[in-house]
Amino acid sequence: MTQYETVIGLEFHAELKTKTKIFCSCPTDFSAEPNTHVCPVCLGLPGVLPVLNKRAVELAIKAGLALNCQISHLSKFDRKNYFYPDLPKGYQVTQFPLPICTNGYLIIKDDAGNDKRIRINRIHLEEDAGKLVHSGTTIATSAYSLPDYNRAAVPLIEIVTEPDLSSAEEAKNFAEMLKLTLQYAAVSDVKMEQGSLRCDVNISLRPQGQKELGVKTEIKNLNSFRSILRAVAYEQTRQTEALDNGERIIQETLTWDDDNGTAFSMRSKEDAHDYHYFPEPDLVPTIVEQDWIDEVAKELPELPQKRKYRLVDQYGLSDYDASTIVNNPVLALFFDRVLYHYDDPKTVANWLLGEISRLVKSSEEEIEMISLKPDDVAYLLTQVKEGAINNNSAKAVLEEMFQTGKEPDAIIKEKGFAQISDTSALQDAVKAVISANPQPVADYRQGKKQALGFLLGQIMKATGGQANPQAVREILINALDNE
Ligand SMILES: [Zn+2]
Repeated sequence: MTQYETVIGLEFHAELKTKTKIFCSCPTDFSAEPNTHVCPVCLGLPGVLPVLNKRAVELAIKAGLALNCQISHLSKFDRKNYFYPDLPKGYQVTQFPLPICTNGYLIIKDDAGNDKRIRINRIHLEEDAGKLVHSGTTIATSAYSLPDYNRAAVPLIEIVTEPDLSSAEEAKNFAEMLKLTLQYAAVSDVKMEQGSLRCDVNISLRPQGQKELGVKTEIKNLNSFRSILRAVAYEQTRQTEALDNGERIIQETLTWDDDNGTAFSMRSKEDAHDYHYFPEPDLVPTIVEQDWIDEVAKELPELPQKRKYRLVDQYGLSDYDASTIVNNPVLALFFDRVLYHYDDPKTVANWLLGEISRLVKSSEEEIEMISLKPDDVAYLLTQVKEGAINNNSAKAVLEEMFQTGKEPDAIIKEKGFAQISDTSALQDAVKAVISANPQPVADYRQGKKQALGFLLGQIMKATGGQANPQAVREILINALDNE
């Protein structure tokens, strides 16, 4: 049996977070009645002229910078011609020879857990098509479909990778890192299940060691990371069996059926020349000066890749903890804000991933909604560090803060959680316990050191757990040794 190597390239469509469409002022929001957000421009009626949405260009530049691309000072729009009912104009306005961004990359983990650089060929700006609402559950089983043009001409970026990925797991890792990067850069909602981020996979096999690429197929309709994993595995198996049986792979576009875990052919794959691309005559070329790129760059926050390195290399967090924090932008921001007031990253991470995550999970709330204030959490941790309250009390205070939104100080006072660190109060408690327990005291003085634990326990009990254990220990040992 021949051993094959898998070659995968990915294409993503991300809807940009603009208020209005790319060439007209129709709103882009998602939940309107069908065909209410349309006008002569996005319906392509005769005699209308498009005007490019500046914010869409800005967000495309931002995405390009976040994905380490070069930003083109000159790009232009073209018409991609094809007939399909979701495309009111009969062509899609997109960018072909001169896209807005080129030559980027993202770093992901390969199957061995090492860093791997995946090149991004280009990002181009284009308009979305409308949406066909099928009468049945899938396009293949429907008697008819109804077009909704609300989505027509919503601004999109298409991100195209080089075929640098070699497994289903790598494809999924790339998709996750891309989604997270776009989320941090705030250019798109990146909701795969709602279609604001969509992924197509190009996949081919070639015998191990062969330079030349095999014939590829394209799988569409992947709307979760899990479906990317499953579809690649499915197509790897299908192509392996076909090649082993001496069959030829046909270049075609497949659609993924997630319910049944299979892909079926939609059409034989077109090449670029089938679309008769030509320049869009109604739009002038897009000129982007360096000043503008510099301005946009200033708006970019620290991106997930760098953030992970900071948490691991500078703060000494484990890879796992760093990823858990960074993979959730809300958690990552919360972490940084607590850290701003309490400079001990490991303790902050432990509380965030331990108690706070437990509270969030046990409630119906999302981490986005929680009422905890980062500076209150920092205050609470400071109280623990200074010995003003003990760890268990702090957990109870945190829970109360989480549920009521009250300030930690108020809760500590209300519940009487303040640790007794006052030496004279502790000395009295120690004296009382020593005189009430002559036998353990004698044992300790004869060298049975384990008697100390018993006496400590008695003092903690007598003070209702509020004594500062370290202070008690010092006072007790001092009293036993010197009195
Ligand atoms: Zn419109």
